[in-house]
Amino acid sequence: MSAKLKLKGQQFSLWTVLHSSGKIGRGQAWLCRCRCGTERRIDGSKLTSGQSKSCGCTRLRRTLAARFLRYVDKHGPFPSPEAIKVHTDIAGTRCWLWTSSQTASGYGFITEHIGIGTKRRGLRAHRVAWFVNTGLWPIPMACHKCDNKLCVRFSHLFQGTNKDNMKDMLLKERGKKGKHYGK
Ligand SMILES: [Zn+2]
Ligand SMILES: [Zn+2]
Repeated sequence: MSAKLKLKGQQFSLWTVLHSSGKIGRGQAWLCRCRCGTERRIDGSKLTSGQSKSCGCTRLRRTLAARFLRYVDKHGPFPSPEAIKVHTDIAGTRCWLWTSSQTASGYGFITEHIGIGTKRRGLRAHRVAWFVNTGLWPIPMACHKCDNKLCVRFSHLFQGTNKDNMKDMLLKERGKKGKHYGK
């Protein structure tokens, strides 16, 4: 039992141990959160021996950063007046448009290898923009100040919840209506 409590709250390189989480093989598993925000179950002995230092995000960030700009068109449109009214900081700055694959819902999309082998996972391009710029995954979302789903310009993004995003969209809607009613 004491072994179970031992690692909780401790830091191992980029990992912070959240709590014990069953077994991996014969070893005690721990749910850990990497500095980037990724959570994973790790064998305790790999933490204490230093074999596992992070989720691999340092390398992933380098790889993605190198690929990312190839798919970006920096000559996108300027944000709408409604968006600028709410986010004055993006005035006069063009959207950077994602030119590669898109998701069904219209967001930019990039695939990247995880670990060894051929398995690839899909990542939303604007989330990758946040990750490449900060080293952290947006928690829980990267929202668009400019309302342009394909935009991957870091300064056009903010971190927030779904509720924050809704509130932001309402503010912009109100901007449109205000114009309509002459306010
Ligand atoms: Zn990580
Ligand atoms: Zn934009």
